[in-house]
Amino acid sequence: MDDAQLETWSLQQNKFMATVFNFDSAKAAIEAEMQQVAATLKAVIGEIMGGANNPVVDHVGVAMPIASDLTSAHPTSLLVFNVPTEYLELILKQRVWAHEKITLVAWPMSDDVPFPLMLFILGGFTTTDPEAVKTIVTNTWLSEPACWQIAAIISDDLGTDEGNLITVTETFVRSLRVIRLDLHFRGGTPFHQYQICAETPVFQPTTWFTLREYLFKLKYPSSLYGCGAAVDFYSCALCHSVAHPKGLCLFPTITNWKGPSWNSASITLEPRVNSSNRGGFGGRGRGSTRGRGRGL
Ligand SMILES: [Zn+2]
Repeated sequence: MDDAQLETWSLQQNKFMATVFNFDSAKAAIEAEMQQVAATLKAVIGEIMGGANNPVVDHVGVAMPIASDLTSAHPTSLLVFNVPTEYLELILKQRVWAHEKITLVAWPMSDDVPFPLMLFILGGFTTTDPEAVKTIVTNTWLSEPACWQIAAIISDDLGTDEGNLITVTETFVRSLRVIRLDLHFRGGTPFHQYQICAETPVFQPTTWFTLREYLFKLKYPSSLYGCGAAVDFYSCALCHSVAHPKGLCLFPTITNWKGPSWNSASITLEPRVNSSNRGGFGGRGRGSTRGRGRGL
């Protein structure tokens, strides 16, 4: 993003970042498309706040992002600011709002937002067992020189007390979680990749990126199940997550979901015609796992 705009955004009050599901990110650089998103977003935020009858709706601002470099990917999140505290808390608490016009995820903007748990996605193993992959990753991280390199990176934030570094590094490795992605090659043959998640102990974004980058580039060999390596992140066409492809997106499984579905031919802001979906919001919740098994 443009640095000056980022500085201005940081100074706004009662704000959150909105990522819009119903939006083809390839169109983000087209100003007219972004203006339509901003106007629709403002209307939906107004509805959450009770509609035009609530006078504070007029004070809510929606700002569009400016790319810092015309050749780079254009940012797709918008700033919503001047939201009264009671509504801000409500919007952030529910996090995902599905409406017939637009579906959005609201991200807090504060200094204590935790780093993402997912570090990267591993592919290349022949096993279907996440526990086996967890063992391989654990052994790799605890082997030399990886464990010392991890400790060295962490020391940028936490100092060089060796005893503390060993404890923190071990705690980090113990926090490892492995989640299997069930995918299919064209033709239907199944294969598996694994989300690698862990609670990083660092607090500086640059340190987190350095650690993630180091672990991303490591090879993860095993005697029985092949050699794992990190794969490119996905870009879910529904929720814009980098953690899964569109076919594995669980949002459409939520009861009364009003956002885009797996069958959406294209992401559009045009009102959907299914009359049974008109009005109200579909909240975040647990649905069935009907999406599992759908792949690339
Ligand atoms: Zn998704």
